[in-house]
Amino acid sequence: MLISVVVPCFNEEEVIGRFHERLTKETSALDLGSDLGSDLGSDLGPDVGSSLEFVYVDDGSDDGTLVRLRELAADDPRVRFISFSRNFGKEAAMLAGLEHAAGDAIVIMDADLQHPPELIPRMVELHQEGFDQVIARRTRKGDRVTRTLSARAYYWLINRFMDVEIVDGAGDFRLLSRRAADSVTALTEYNRFSKGLFAWVGFPSTTFSYENAAREDGHSKWSFGKLLNYGLDGLLSFNNKPLRTAVHLGVTLMAIAAVYAAWIVGGVLTRGVDTPGYATLLVVITALAGAQIAMIGIVGEYIGRIYYEVKRRPHYLVKAANTSRAGVSPAEPAGPEQRVGRPVR
Ligand code: UDP
Ligand code: MG
Repeated sequence: MLISVVVPCFNEEEVIGRFHERLTKETSALDLGSDLGSDLGSDLGPDVGSSLEFVYVDDGSDDGTLVRLRELAADDPRVRFISFSRNFGKEAAMLAGLEHAAGDAIVIMDADLQHPPELIPRMVELHQEGFDQVIARRTRKGDRVTRTLSARAYYWLINRFMDVEIVDGAGDFRLLSRRAADSVTALTEYNRFSKGLFAWVGFPSTTFSYENAAREDGHSKWSFGKLLNYGLDGLLSFNNKPLRTAVHLGVTLMAIAAVYAAWIVGGVLTRGVDTPGYATLLVVITALAGAQIAMIGIVGEYIGRIYYEVKRRPHYLVKAANTSRAGVSPAEPAGPEQRVGRPVR
């Protein structure tokens, strides 16, 4: 059995070397057949043991990450890397990793050592018990209270809107079986919300908890604004329930307006005309205008998504790689950076 470990990296030069060291150390017990090579290993059947490959995806880093990856690949024949022409985002990096991983089981993890590599043997064990997805769920211990509370509120909200259930703390650190990974890569949508995609493919899954670790080095690429947009993406990119909610809200407002109109007309008929009502009018107009703009915004978000989908652009472009599956010759891993597309004049 070949186990692939997929690692998206964006500006991780400080930590990537240490990460690889820890990763190889913690997974050495799994690596019984690395000398045999993956083709031979699979011929011998799963009982003979496992071998490993490490698929690093450099997401267009502008520091020395790619240099580090080349060094790792030179030292360790099990290291594959793919380097993007620019930063395409973690979702694209994970997709590339899944597409290029050859393993029978694929583990996705972060490069910053927040996902403990020592959990991998346990994940493989659970996979061998028959689970297609083994999800490592982090506890929120050590997180700021505001972050914990907002996460809780967000998951409550999102699970009311989504068809699939998303668990707080269950992120991208997970093992996927070959068929689960193939199912995820078969979903070609441009707006990728992995948490949702993983939940959508289903298959027998199991979850276990681990204690959250602090980032080893470098800094998180998430700002508050980015997180907010990611949250909105999750809410909007998975189904059309927000549109449905907009319709419900519109109908509710109409019903309230009808009752209010009846009350005013009733008042005019029984008590005669009285002119005051300027404040009421203003409040109603502002409230309705706000609701309308919000709803147009929701509709616009969906149109924006359709716009991106119909363009059918690739999810990422590869500028260098040492894996033949990436479409760049593995014979010249240290050669000049290869570019997809026309050269810039
Ligand atoms: N990452 C990436 N592309 C990006 C941002 C992040 O590949 O545009 C990688 C990053 O190198 C790391 C993982 O995604 O391995 C998680 O990123 P980070 O640690 O910044 O996120 P956090 O752990 O704070 O959620
Ligand atoms: Mg992190």
